[in-house]
Amino acid sequence: MSEPIPFLDLQPCYRASQPAIDAALARVAASGWFLLGKELVAFESQWAGYCASAHAAGVANGLDALHLSLRALGVGEGDEVIVPSNTYIATWLAVSQCGARPVPVEPDPLSFNLDPARIEAAITPRTRVLLPVHLYGQPADMDPIMALAERHGLKVLDDCAQAHGAAYKGRPVGGLAHASAWSFYPGKNLGAMGDGGGVTSADADLIERIKVLRNYGSRIKYHNELKGINSRLDEIQAAVLSAKLPQLDEATAQRRSIAARLLEGLADTGLQLPQVPAWAEPAWHLFVVRHPARDALQARLAERGLGTLIHYPVPPHLQPAYAELGYGPGDFPIAEAMHREVLSLPLWPGMSSAQIDRVITEVRACV
Ligand SMILES: *Cc1c(COP(=O)(O)O)cnc(C)c1O
Repeated sequence: MSEPIPFLDLQPCYRASQPAIDAALARVAASGWFLLGKELVAFESQWAGYCASAHAAGVANGLDALHLSLRALGVGEGDEVIVPSNTYIATWLAVSQCGARPVPVEPDPLSFNLDPARIEAAITPRTRVLLPVHLYGQPADMDPIMALAERHGLKVLDDCAQAHGAAYKGRPVGGLAHASAWSFYPGKNLGAMGDGGGVTSADADLIERIKVLRNYGSRIKYHNELKGINSRLDEIQAAVLSAKLPQLDEATAQRRSIAARLLEGLADTGLQLPQVPAWAEPAWHLFVVRHPARDALQARLAERGLGTLIHYPVPPHLQPAYAELGYGPGDFPIAEAMHREVLSLPLWPGMSSAQIDRVITEVRACV
């Protein structure tokens, strides 16, 4: 039998930037300065530039990026935030951490992203923020979401954790909303060598509030204006991210060409394939197909050595963590069907042509 194909291999990404990463690690080690230093300042300005946004703040992870953005937007006890019913649970947890309530809205069944037509019915006098997610790296339809927010006096925070390098109508994701939250978790399209996160925004005051909140609510050491948290992007992670950033466009181009081959090779299999609207340039964080007998398909692929994952097996409203909201099966049927049927196929920058062909052959043999 041929070599198994893992779901994801991060080694090619390291090799593509190895001299720069190794130099960055050595530079920080030698500097003797590990938090809130010049590596962070440099990465923040590079990342804001990459996203065509004016300002950025590094934080410790994507969950904190979402949570601190919501706090900086003024979300608190008793407020409501509109979230997708089919996102990773971090999107919801960030809302709960502010004392606010996540209000789920169903996605569009083809794009997997928040359906702008369904949002308005979920807006109440307590709604403060709309929180779309660019799920799987496919940009959400932002123009109608921004227009709706404008009409209702709301803010928009987008969860960009899966969308580094994606573009919407020619504009990079990260410069589209009032604030944009990023994760630099190792497996994300721009990944650190540990946890990392950040926020981009055109609003200098908002980014300044996040910088205060991430450091114990303190601007001047031992003087605390806000009840902040400890959520800093450390110098090693910031230096690694700066070292990898010059390769991000190349990595995204590779993801796009692999996705194009998968779309072509799997076109007539009966699988539901990702749909790409004309205005979207996806980042292809994940290549997600749908099949009514997903579990059996995944088992057959595993027997043939093909690694796959499910993003995600249980929707947030059915997690024990959210029992308090009182939802049950059937409350969000579009999301529930997605969670039963989605399967993520292997796709990573540096995947060999033979590996891409194997994925196509094995999937065709198993559907
Ligand atoms: C990864 C992810 C997060 C959380 O990021 P962490 O860095 O792991 O905290 C939030 N939202 C989405 C959609 C994600 O994929």
